[in-house]
Amino acid sequence: MLQSILSNIAVILLMHLTMTFILDNQKKIPHPLRIAITIVLSSGCAISLFYLPIHLHEGYFVDMRFIPLVFLAYLQGWIAIPALLIASAWRFFMGGNGMVPGIIFGMVLPTIIALAFHPRSQLKKHYIEKILIVLLCWFVCDFPIIFLVPNGFEIFKETALTRVTSFVATSAILYMFIMQDRQRKFLNSQLEKMADEDPLTKLVNKRKFYEVVEEKTAALKPCHYIAMLDIDFFKKVNDTYGHLFGDKILAEVANILKKYESHHLVAGRFGGEEFIIYLGETDLDSAKSILEKIREEIKHTSFVYSNDTKVNLTVSIGLAELKDEIDILEAVYYADQNLYKAKSSGRDCLVSPV
Ligand code: GH3
Ligand code: MG
Ligand code: MG
Repeated sequence: MLQSILSNIAVILLMHLTMTFILDNQKKIPHPLRIAITIVLSSGCAISLFYLPIHLHEGYFVDMRFIPLVFLAYLQGWIAIPALLIASAWRFFMGGNGMVPGIIFGMVLPTIIALAFHPRSQLKKHYIEKILIVLLCWFVCDFPIIFLVPNGFEIFKETALTRVTSFVATSAILYMFIMQDRQRKFLNSQLEKMADEDPLTKLVNKRKFYEVVEEKTAALKPCHYIAMLDIDFFKKVNDTYGHLFGDKILAEVANILKKYESHHLVAGRFGGEEFIIYLGETDLDSAKSILEKIREEIKHTSFVYSNDTKVNLTVSIGLAELKDEIDILEAVYYADQNLYKAKSSGRDCLVSPV
């Protein structure tokens, strides 16, 4: 019996490992395909368990088929339904003794119970509730033994402890692995965010900006532009109202830039009070007109210091073309040169290539 229980656990963990692999590569696999694979894996796992029965009592066998379905229903909701249908259809065509209770009590009811609790699955801790769900599913699954098997109550009593222990232990192991993977994924995404994002403005940092622009220039048609935007007399704002207010302004300017972001426009924080903007698949006039709009919007925004103090500021912008024959750093250099020209010609303006 122990051997069969261990085989059941091995199949369930194998399913989990495969799902983890798919989740780790989710960027490469389209969402509908991921759903389809999850359904096939869970139903495949339930079906495999039919063939690894645990010897219960003189010719009576059970297995852990409900575990993959119950976990899928509890953690992912409706996609358990097609998995349940596939597994049930398979069990139906296998026929034999115990087919109907095997489907109804062994799969359908436990899956419905888990689905009913799905909205609560995001609640952290609540371990007692999670154990109770497994216990309820086990009870529903083994309950018919009492009525359908001669001497069923005796068998139920005899096997209950082993059954319940193996269900709870298997579920606990699986749950622990799933939660550990989620935690790992969450930490990875936080790390990625920290590596790519400027914490104050939530715009991409310089490193990520260059990376994104390189992808865009490789994928999109020619006509790419780089603009450098610098807040005018920002030091004075800091000196007058303090650096915290200065930070607030930087975040608000970034929010204005974010409104213009699209597939063809990416804004990043270059450093200090300087921002960098990529404009793709556009001509010089359209690039200039978008940048003028941004400049005007910032100029007409009042940054609120207190109820009766509002600060208005302007920005200077330098624009350069990112031609095929030059690299991005050269384009940044030319945009910077034009930014200096904008500063020296009185600020609050855009200087573009002639
Ligand atoms: P210009 O019109 O020539 O650009 O003048 P400016 O005062 O904006 O330029 P300058 O380079 O003299 O000063 C830039 C100021 O930006 C200095 C620094 O205090 C401020 N600054 C840079 N990074 C930050 C930041 O993260 N937060 C705040 N609050 N201020 C910053
Ligand atoms: Mg400045
Ligand atoms: Mg500056």
